[in-house]
Amino acid sequence: MRKKLIIANWKMNLSVSRASLLVHRLDERIREHRSVEVVLAPPMLTLQPLSLQIDRRKFRLCAQNAHPEDQGPLTGEVSFAMIDGIVHYALVGHSDRRYKFGEDSAFIQKKVTAAVRNHITPVLCVGETLQEKRDGETMQVVHDQVNSAMECLTAEEAARMVIAYEPVWALSSGHDYLHHETPKPDDIKRVVAAIRRTVAEVYGPKAAGSIRVLYGGSSNASTAHGLMSTTDVDGLLVGGASLNYAEFANIVDAAYQVAHQETENIAG
Ligand code: PGA
Repeated sequence: MRKKLIIANWKMNLSVSRASLLVHRLDERIREHRSVEVVLAPPMLTLQPLSLQIDRRKFRLCAQNAHPEDQGPLTGEVSFAMIDGIVHYALVGHSDRRYKFGEDSAFIQKKVTAAVRNHITPVLCVGETLQEKRDGETMQVVHDQVNSAMECLTAEEAARMVIAYEPVWALSSGHDYLHHETPKPDDIKRVVAAIRRTVAEVYGPKAAGSIRVLYGGSSNASTAHGLMSTTDVDGLLVGGASLNYAEFANIVDAAYQVAHQETENIAG
C-alpha cells in the first residue's frame, strides 16, 4: 500500500517566527502516524531554521523551488545541491512557476533531473488551465507535462517520484480563481488514472504502481476525506488551508482515517 502524503505549500507567506509558531502548534496537535507522511513546504529562508525545529518522526521538509544548476553566477537563486540534506522533497512545475515565472517544459525537466541528482524527490505539479479544459485538452496537457518532465529518469528514479494533479483553474489563488469550481471526483480519478498510464507506457507497471499521485486545488478539512477516498489519490498538496494549524491538522486526520479504512478493507 502506498503511504498517504500530505504536503503544506505555504507559498510566499509567514515570517520565520510565524512559521516557527505554526510548526509548534502543528507539533502539539498532530500525532505520529505510520500510514501518513506530513510534509511542510515553507519559503526557502525558513527551511534551515525549521530543519532544526521539527520532530523528524512527524514532519519532513519540501522546497517550493530551487535552481537546476549546482552553483554559478545566478544572482538570487538557490540550488538543489545547496538544500540536499535539508529537504526530502521539492515542488517542480508548480503552476505559479509555469505561468507567473514563465518556466517551460525544458527547464522543468532540468529541475526534475537536478533534484534527483541531489537526492531530493521531485513533486511534479501538472494540470490544465481553464482554457485548456474548455478546449478539451486536459488529458493531452497532463500527458505531455508528465512525459517531458520525466524524460531523463531511470525506471527506479521514476518509481520514487510524486506527481500532483493541480488543475490551474481549481487553485484557490490561481488567476482563473474567479471561475472558482472544484473538479468532480470522477474527473480527478480519470486524470490520475491517465497519469499512471503515462508513467506505465515509459517505465512499466511497477513504476506506475509505486509512484504517488496527489490532488491539489482548494482542498480543505471538509473536502479532504472525500477527495482521498473517492479519487484513488494518495494524498493532497494543500495551499491556503495549510496556513491554519487546526484546518491542516484536520486534513492530516482525514488522511489517517482513509489509510485506516483502506487497511481494514484489505484485511477484511
Ligand atoms: P490551494 O493551493 O490549496 O490554495 O488551492 C494549492 C497549490 O497551489 O499547491
